[in-house]
Amino acid sequence: MGETLRNMLGTPRLLALGEAVLSIVLILIATAVAIRPLTAVVRRALAPRGEAHDADPQVQRRALEHPQRREEAHPRHRDKVPHDLHAIHTYPMKVLVTGGAGFIGSHVVDAYVEEGYDVVVVDNLTTGRREFLNPRARFFEMDIRDSDLRGVFERERPDVVNHHAAQASVTASVDDPAHDADVNIMGTLNLLELAKAFGTRKIVFASTGGAIYGDPERIPADESHPTRPLAPYGISKMAGEFYVRFFGGLGMSWAILRYANVYGPRQDPHGEAGVVAIFTNAMLAGNRPKIFGDGTQTRDFVYVEDVARANVLATESEEPGLANIATGVETTVNDVYRHLAESTQFRDPPVYAPARTGEVYRIALDPRQADDWLGWTADVALADGLRRTVDWFRR
Ligand code: NAD
Repeated sequence: MGETLRNMLGTPRLLALGEAVLSIVLILIATAVAIRPLTAVVRRALAPRGEAHDADPQVQRRALEHPQRREEAHPRHRDKVPHDLHAIHTYPMKVLVTGGAGFIGSHVVDAYVEEGYDVVVVDNLTTGRREFLNPRARFFEMDIRDSDLRGVFERERPDVVNHHAAQASVTASVDDPAHDADVNIMGTLNLLELAKAFGTRKIVFASTGGAIYGDPERIPADESHPTRPLAPYGISKMAGEFYVRFFGGLGMSWAILRYANVYGPRQDPHGEAGVVAIFTNAMLAGNRPKIFGDGTQTRDFVYVEDVARANVLATESEEPGLANIATGVETTVNDVYRHLAESTQFRDPPVYAPARTGEVYRIALDPRQADDWLGWTADVALADGLRRTVDWFRR
């Protein structure tokens, strides 16, 4: 290049000047490229709450115009976001999580935030708690049956809806089946209709294994096990699954996750279910926990952060599908008691009470489908998960 310039410009001085100008131009271009992400960070930091948006709008616009630039807009999502979502979307993907202030939903929100999603939460705080809300998610305190939910969709236009809000108590569903159906069926329907109307691309639905399969014919129960709900809660969850699949047939992608017994930090120790939370709370308060029956009944305990990870994988899966989210392992209630007593240094035996009628005696769910479909398996061993839960309850 020096020889060419020398010929063109004639003198060494002019050559030096030309090279200097060229260098300055190159430095200016490099600086502009380097500070671009920084200016985006500063803009995000200064954005008012509720208006915050993780992506540089200019980069987003260019990503729309030039598909190859999507990676530039959000390199974290490269190789992760399903191709059908790649086709039309800007990033970060926006996900609306219903029930995001609840036990499982709040962990799901944390996992999405961690992965770089833009997260919106709708929760009416009936059982959810404000302090479980991730500060990086926008929160709408609202019932999923509320007609104002349309306004949330109008404003946020989520790419994905993750539906965790529910009337989740089996006993309450028996006492008031109409209320259970109102929240779990009519609420779900309201949400799905809005999702369809506002172009949501995918719905992820939190369903249940045990309450849907009923008394298991085989253990572990796989997804083709007959569904024989024993209570209105299982019936309404089953109806929710059918509606999700119906809307899936109208062009929305879908994922249904049938959870086993989820346990971990933030579980309500005053609920009817959730032996881990109930036992831990009692032991730490120095009270003897009550076991209904002789404690040899079994459940499949899955740690809440594993469940949250399954939600992210299901969101990013290219295939619609349904899977148990479980360990496949049966654990007796007596074993859970022993582990927790060890972690909390609780010395007393439990109080044994008569078995409750209508409860399944043994259950575990087959998790192989989740592995085939999502590459998901439970990572957290029971002893470890119980220790983490005790640590959280101690705080
Ligand atoms: P949770 O009660 O902690 O969470 C439910 C959340 O939904 C709460 O934050 C509550 O305030 C909110 N909510 C309830 N009704 C609402 C309404 N009408 N509008 C808006 N928000 C509403 O319960 P969880 O154990 O975290 O359960 C979450 C989901 O997982 C539920 O759909 C439940 O059916 C499902 N599930 C849970 C388990 C489990 O082991 N905990 C097992 C299977 C399935």
